[in-house]
Amino acid sequence: MQEIHKYIQGFNDFREEYFCCENSPFEILRKGQEPKTMVIACSDSRTDPSLLLQCGPGEIFVVRNVANIVPPYETKAGYHGVSSAIEYAVKALKVENIIVLGHSDCGGIGALMRNDEVNETEFVGNWLSMLHDVREDVLDHFGEVSPRSCKACEMSGVLASVRNLMTFPWIAERVDSGDLHLHAWYFDMTTGQLRGYDRDGQKFKTLEMPVPGGATPGGD
Ligand SMILES: [Zn+2]
Repeated sequence: MQEIHKYIQGFNDFREEYFCCENSPFEILRKGQEPKTMVIACSDSRTDPSLLLQCGPGEIFVVRNVANIVPPYETKAGYHGVSSAIEYAVKALKVENIIVLGHSDCGGIGALMRNDEVNETEFVGNWLSMLHDVREDVLDHFGEVSPRSCKACEMSGVLASVRNLMTFPWIAERVDSGDLHLHAWYFDMTTGQLRGYDRDGQKFKTLEMPVPGGATPGGD
């Protein structure tokens, strides 16, 4: 119960900061949300995107699931929770960016790679099976399940999810017209670094702030 009391106190502190004074953030936010970016992250308790990216309420539209997976576009019957969130973010909120945020030491990817305990799960094994091809490719390359191959699978899983985003026709359309940008990011909690996939170099590189006055990615 102590944990629960801590959360109630936490909410009271939140309310104090965000609701109670004049010009508080929710004076505007209670009228609606206009986030410019969607983040698809893992449910892992250490990878809260709002905390990692230091975003306040209303800044990012978030969906989280085991191993930050984006399913491929499919319209057959089913409860498409992730795809619904993506549809709302893209069509209704008109976000300009979608970030798929993977991370190191991912329990979901570890279970996928070991392929043992997931067989006894009711839902997790089937969910992770979307990355079976990624697992096979990584194992073909590394030959065994190891910290290195798990890390490679975590990163390849992020790329597979970005590829799946492009199977949604209305996403591909907006990406082609330049109205939407897709980003593959990876939080390495061992080194405390944030990496982004560099298409030209075909690898994940540490993301750095652009130099003031210098060339910025996508800038003039
Ligand atoms: Zn994870």
